[in-house]
Amino acid sequence: MQAIAIERNGGPEVLELRDLPVPEPKEGQALVRLEASGINFIDVYVRSGAYKAPSFPLVLGQEGAGIVAAVGPGVTLVAEGDRVAYAGTLGAYAEYAAVPADRLVKVPDGVTLRDAAALMLQGLTAHYLVNSTFPLQRGQTAVVQAGAGGVGLLLTQLAKGKGATVITTVSTAEKAELSKRAGADVVVDYTRDDFAKATRDATEGKGAHVVYDSVGKTTWEKSLDALRPRGYFVLFGASSGPVPPFDPQLLNHKGALFATRPSLQYYVATRDELEWRARELFAAVLDGTLSLRVEHTYPLADAARAHEDLEARKTTGKLLLLP
Ligand code: NDP
Repeated sequence: MQAIAIERNGGPEVLELRDLPVPEPKEGQALVRLEASGINFIDVYVRSGAYKAPSFPLVLGQEGAGIVAAVGPGVTLVAEGDRVAYAGTLGAYAEYAAVPADRLVKVPDGVTLRDAAALMLQGLTAHYLVNSTFPLQRGQTAVVQAGAGGVGLLLTQLAKGKGATVITTVSTAEKAELSKRAGADVVVDYTRDDFAKATRDATEGKGAHVVYDSVGKTTWEKSLDALRPRGYFVLFGASSGPVPPFDPQLLNHKGALFATRPSLQYYVATRDELEWRARELFAAVLDGTLSLRVEHTYPLADAARAHEDLEARKTTGKLLLLP
């Protein structure tokens, strides 16, 4: 099969198209013939070495959707021919992936496999952020950094669905337009304007209840300034680089704030939780309350170009590789 593998950490140039054997599904695994693989910022961290790779050569990619081609011993949750999707298992930049069967969810009729691939990692993330990390309530105000990004567009829609006021940040006028269409009440170009001030202006000087910050290095301090006393700083990514170490007293000085650094694996830790989140997301796609934007598709061989585009902030919404 064809796959994008890396032999070492580095820039996009380390992504190589290779011919590899089709993986054998082991005990508890299903072999999925992938129709679409999601590209996510986490793939950049694994490629660059910001997140440690388990071993080399390594097939990148942690999200996909396709058809079960075979199952390993002991698998009862899925069967050959099922339409399935998943997130969180390495090896998705390939024609086939062996995935633990208990990490697969069945894709309902009416949802395409491309949409399912686009929904899993970023959708599950947006779902846990608004339902579990900081359960948003009607009338509250949330700041969503990088509002036109893959997670950003979904998070904005889910937050609006909760009845919150949503303030987003973006870097271009085109991205601002997209973010507005996703439902943002206030959109700030954070390359030009002060989003903490804009948040205060929009909340009678009080500040937001929560900031969902995936940008990190360039935004974190202002994110704290955008919060009201006892607000929640939810740092869930580092698209601009990691947040430097800071003294917890800072949280006190800024108003007895809470800070958390969540990640998806801890919010889909059980089968029940994974199924609950996926069920709600698929239902929202089917009833039209959640709209997906697959903005960019690339052939498998163009994975390096996809990474360049993502890192250069050229993309909006979801990026998919089509094996
Ligand atoms: P995005 O589509 O959001 O792409 C990243 C965006 O970040 C860019 O488009 C850009 O938007 C913004 N950005 C700001 N500064 C920079 C910079 N210096 N370099 C690159 N981008 C920058 O990616 P994803 O939706 O895939 O992921 C968003 C974030 O969420 C990532 O940090 C990712 O790691 C994190 N994440 C975390 C998860 C978790 O469970 N913790 C799960 C899923 C994602 P703009 O041009 O508007 O500034």
